[in-house]
Amino acid sequence: MSPRPFIVAIDGPAGAGKSSVSKLLARRLGFALVDTGAIYRCVALMATREGIAFDDDAKLGELLGRVRIHFQVVGEENHVFLSGEDVSGEIRTPAISMGASQVSGRPVVRAGLLALQRRLALEAQAGAILEGRDIGTVVFPDADAKFFLAADPEVRARRRFEELFQKGVDSSLEAVLTDQTQRDTADSARTVAPLKAADDAMHVDSSSMPLSDVVRTLEQEIERRRGQRG
Ligand code: C5P
Repeated sequence: MSPRPFIVAIDGPAGAGKSSVSKLLARRLGFALVDTGAIYRCVALMATREGIAFDDDAKLGELLGRVRIHFQVVGEENHVFLSGEDVSGEIRTPAISMGASQVSGRPVVRAGLLALQRRLALEAQAGAILEGRDIGTVVFPDADAKFFLAADPEVRARRRFEELFQKGVDSSLEAVLTDQTQRDTADSARTVAPLKAADDAMHVDSSSMPLSDVVRTLEQEIERRRGQRG
């Protein structure tokens, strides 16, 4: 039996730099990248398209059985496909962000997505990077390396705003900050799998750290742990 792929958990609040860091790390290490936020966003998108309320547990439960997701690198970006359709742009709108935050608070949704997240990671060849909110605490409590990325709220909001701007999504810095504060509060306060650092996670505050330094810090720790695993 081949050994389990090397699992890297990267958790933290919205805009802490998880996506940029994970993408660069995955490319440098040749690891698969599982953007778990994109999975919750796909559930919110499906619910929106089907007119299902974000708190309708019965209908959400039925919908979960039909979630078919895969990730694929297209050019420089990690694209997400829902039943074969590239929805990478559509899941980034403010409405879907709020929807994802709401459906992710439903225990039926969290439980229903656990197996999918684990399978996407365990299918990887060498290793997988999972980014999200509860990877190191719930999805892979036995991950080989765990990180918790943080940054000041204003810094995070500006990064998110610039990212949306580059993707052509119409928004404002104020709107992004308001949305981020609401999501942070909801993600941290929910009873099931709240946003919190695993006890054994390495904390990295990227507020005034260039992206390249953050990537280097994580990569060094990953290499150290890979060496330990042998
Ligand atoms: O990371 P991203 O902003 O794309 O995640 C969208 C939403 O999905 C978050 O606000 C959070 O509510 C939820 N989420 C979660 N657990 C994860 C990943 C995302 O609850 N592991």
